[in-house]
Amino acid sequence: MINVTKTYLPPYEEYEAYLKGIWERNQLTNNGPLVRELEQKIKDYLGVKHCLFVSNGTIAIQLALKVLGVTKEVITTPFSYCATSHSVVWEGCTPVFADILRSDLCIDPQKVEAAITENTQAILATHVYGNPCEVYELQKIADKHNVKLIYDAAHAFGASVDDKSLLSFGDISTCSFHATKVFHTVEGGAVITNNDEYAWLLDRYRSFGHIGDDYLTIGINGKNSEFHAAMGLVNLPKVPEIIAARKAIFDIYDQELNWDKLGRPELSLNTVKNYAYYPVFFESEAALLKVRDALSENQIMPRRYFYPSLSTLKFVTEESTCPISDDFALRALALPLYYDLAHEDVYRIARIVNENL
Ligand SMILES: *Cc1c(COP(=O)(O)O)cnc(C)c1O
Repeated sequence: MINVTKTYLPPYEEYEAYLKGIWERNQLTNNGPLVRELEQKIKDYLGVKHCLFVSNGTIAIQLALKVLGVTKEVITTPFSYCATSHSVVWEGCTPVFADILRSDLCIDPQKVEAAITENTQAILATHVYGNPCEVYELQKIADKHNVKLIYDAAHAFGASVDDKSLLSFGDISTCSFHATKVFHTVEGGAVITNNDEYAWLLDRYRSFGHIGDDYLTIGINGKNSEFHAAMGLVNLPKVPEIIAARKAIFDIYDQELNWDKLGRPELSLNTVKNYAYYPVFFESEAALLKVRDALSENQIMPRRYFYPSLSTLKFVTEESTCPISDDFALRALALPLYYDLAHEDVYRIARIVNENL
């Protein structure tokens, strides 16, 4: 069986080597030395000032909204994983959906600006498939209207624009280190910012609001453990080789698939990709379903990323018109892509796709 993704597992001995130290120190969590070491190494790798390792990528978004004091309207994308808009609703804010660009399926800056009202406090945009949003345009709009800019950069670890990590844009970027992502810590995530004050507050918020024995404010438990940090420390040095292996597979799909009948994201900025996903866009949902069925008959399981369009979830929003997102949600399919997917299987997948178009 070939799934859309497969978790990277490092050599067992490399992980085991970290366990000995955890047993010797008898400190399993609460900002232990491995957590601090991982945070430092991620900061160095990404070239960012602050990185707070947290329990997952969803709580990272919630912490970002909390620390920026966002309580009202958040303009966000309908084309993302549900964690993006669910976090907004969970924080008691109102998601306002702005439609996406046809080129790369990231949020459309013009639609963002048109959606701004006096209640808008933040923009929450996703770098879909690890491809960059219009980061310069969005920053201009955020500055002009004095609203905060948050990126859900869950897909973007290892990707950059103009030689800057995608995780360094906006007031705050969040990341997921879930087992299915390019870089993972089993479960985990990060809140990344260059702002000292936000970083200090985030550190309080992720740990019940503690300052020493006292409390600054209400907080939550967003910490992560030494065991998760250890997985991150083993996996981080492998990221370049994982990305290179993914690129080789990406290139085969690029070369083999029938582009007369398929679409793919087109990027406008000067980008270094992380090859996080391999999405293709079909001419119709019927065309997608035909190919998906043919693949699944061969034990190949692609995944509809992202489906459905978040703007159609009634528990998220009562009314929303995002026709481009609604349309692409029906036609976008992510093909299998992971570090050790055999190249002969990639050729076979491309052949089955082409034969069923
Ligand atoms: C994976 C993902 C998340 C959630 O991350 P978790 O670590 O699973 O909580 C959020 N947003 C996007 C776009 C994702 O793909």
